[in-house]
Amino acid sequence: MVRSAAGSVRYRKGGPNTVLRLALWEIWGSKCYWCNTPVLLNSTQIDHIVPQNVSEARLEELKSAYRLPIDFDLHDPRNLAPICTSCNGVEGKGNTTHVAPVVMTRLKYAEKRRSAVIARVLKFGRSGKVAEHLLQAAMADLSDPDIRQEFVEHAPAVVQTLAMTDPELGDYLSFHLVEVAVQSEAGDYQRVQVTLDSRGRTAVALLEKVCGSALDDVLQGPVIQLVEEISGRVTDGFEALESAEPITVGEPTSDFVTINVDSLDFRRFAGTVEFTFGGDFEASLSASLVRVRPDGDGTDDLQGDAVVSGSFSIDAVWELADDQTGVTAGDCIIDAWTQDLHAAR
Ligand SMILES: [Zn+2]
Repeated sequence: MVRSAAGSVRYRKGGPNTVLRLALWEIWGSKCYWCNTPVLLNSTQIDHIVPQNVSEARLEELKSAYRLPIDFDLHDPRNLAPICTSCNGVEGKGNTTHVAPVVMTRLKYAEKRRSAVIARVLKFGRSGKVAEHLLQAAMADLSDPDIRQEFVEHAPAVVQTLAMTDPELGDYLSFHLVEVAVQSEAGDYQRVQVTLDSRGRTAVALLEKVCGSALDDVLQGPVIQLVEEISGRVTDGFEALESAEPITVGEPTSDFVTINVDSLDFRRFAGTVEFTFGGDFEASLSASLVRVRPDGDGTDDLQGDAVVSGSFSIDAVWELADDQTGVTAGDCIIDAWTQDLHAAR
C-alpha cells in the first residue's frame, strides 16, 4: 500500500512549498497567524509553530509539555501556519519557544485547519493550467518595477472576469484595514482589527463624514463589553467544571484577546441610519482555581486554562434629529461561542 495522499502533504526542506503556502494562507484567512494582520500571499512565509530546528531532546520535552502525539511530525500541516515577514524576522516571534498556553492554542488552531489545508493542496494538484498561472501571478515579486508594470497592465482583466462571474468575488480581497484601540476603565488597551469590503468602506465613510462619529468612539463601549463578557463566561465555565466539589475562581487574566470586525452594513431610513457590525474573536485566558478536596479536608490550588472563540454583532444608530450626539452603539451580542477549558495542578 502506498502512503496516503494526505500524508504526502507536508513541508519540504528546500522546497517547492508554493502550493502549501497558498493553502495555509487561504485556510488561515489570509492573515499572519502571529500578529493577525492581513498579509499578501507573496509576502507570506510558512512558520513551524514548534520550531523545525529543535533538538531531539527538546522536541521530546515539548511533546510532553504540549500533549502532542508520539509521532508528531514537525513538517505536517498540524505544525504549520502562515506568518508575515516581520513576525518571522529577528524582531518578531523568533524561534524561541514561547509559553505553553500560547503555543498550545496555536497548535489547536493548526489541528482544526489541518484537513482543510490538505484538501486544498490536493485539490490544487488536480487543477489545470489556469490555477497555476494565477498562483504565479499572486506570487509575483512586485518590488521589481518591470514585473509590477506587467501586473498593473494585465491584472484588471482577471479582476473584471472575476467580478463578472460573481460581483461579490470581485471585491472579496480588499484589505481595507484599520486598527482601533479602545481603553477599558482599568486602563488596558484592546486592539481591534477592522477589515472591510467596499460596502463596509462605504459605511465607514457615512459614519465618519455624514454622522460625524469616529469608528473607535463607536466601538469603544461594545468592545469593552465584549472583553468583560468573555471573562465572565470563562469564570462561569470554570465554576461549572465537572467536579463534585465547589470551585472558587480568581479573576481570569488574558494571555491574548484578538477581536476582528469583518463586516459593516448600513440601512438608511428617513432621518435615521442603522449600522450593523459583525466580527469574530479568539482568546486565551487563565485563572487560579481553588477546589475543596473530595474528603472535605482542605483545598487544592489549580490552574485553569481557557481557549475560547466565537462571533459577535453590534448595532448602532444615528438619528438626524440629534445630530449633536453622533452614532450611538447598542450592546455587543455574542452570536456564537465555543470554549475549551482545562484545570490542572
Ligand atoms: Zn505577523
